[in-house]
Amino acid sequence: MSIADNLKQYKSEVESDGVKLIVVSKTQSIESIQEAYNAGQRIFGENQVQEMVDKQSQLPADIEWHLIGHLQSNKVKYIAPFVKLIHGVDSLKLLQEIDKQAAKNKRVIDCLLQIYIADEDTKFGLGFDEAIELLRSEEYARLQNVRIVGVMGIATNTKNEKQIAIEFNELKVLFDGLKLSFFRKDDYFKEISSGMSADYKIAIEEGSTMVRIGSAIFGKRVIKHFKTDISIN
Ligand SMILES: *Cc1c(COP(=O)(O)O)cnc(C)c1O
Repeated sequence: MSIADNLKQYKSEVESDGVKLIVVSKTQSIESIQEAYNAGQRIFGENQVQEMVDKQSQLPADIEWHLIGHLQSNKVKYIAPFVKLIHGVDSLKLLQEIDKQAAKNKRVIDCLLQIYIADEDTKFGLGFDEAIELLRSEEYARLQNVRIVGVMGIATNTKNEKQIAIEFNELKVLFDGLKLSFFRKDDYFKEISSGMSADYKIAIEEGSTMVRIGSAIFGKRVIKHFKTDISIN
């Protein structure tokens, strides 16, 4: 199956459930992304700042670029002019930097709080209590140029579907609690970014509103990284 065929199949499957498809294009070539674009896709997710900036400059301007991976504060300035949604906000310090760079660009940048749900040491994210603490803080209340539109989570990399379902359910329960406590009147707080190629079906059953799918559409990623001329340190 071609990239275009895969895209159409996944897009219609998830959109029929009312879920948004983020096509994860990290490590993929400009040509492959263009093929998905030509087949109708407009939302792409990248996890490296340098790669996203480089691709954004070479691809059509109506693409929505989502930063899905861990983001270092010192790199926010490179994506602040154009990024549509930052999925991986995992500290107040990062949120403050996004706010500062968004203000410089006269924008409000949408963000998701990344919540730690996996049973693994290696994943980034806020604990439930930390997310609540952040939203209660005076520092957060002062921010004018960021808008938290929901939460994001990555489940444990396991074949145990029951465990994955429990983790995504925990994310949904937290989302519902935050909605009631902090965003009751805010219609924009509505997104749950959860689910990748291997577990998107479970994620949708457990309340996902955005799935992030890469390898199921483009094929298995080769380890070789996307070549770039832009140097960001
Ligand atoms: C790579 C990545 C994905 C997509 O993974 P696939 O298994 O290729 O679908 C989703 N989310 C994040 C945060 C990623 O880094």
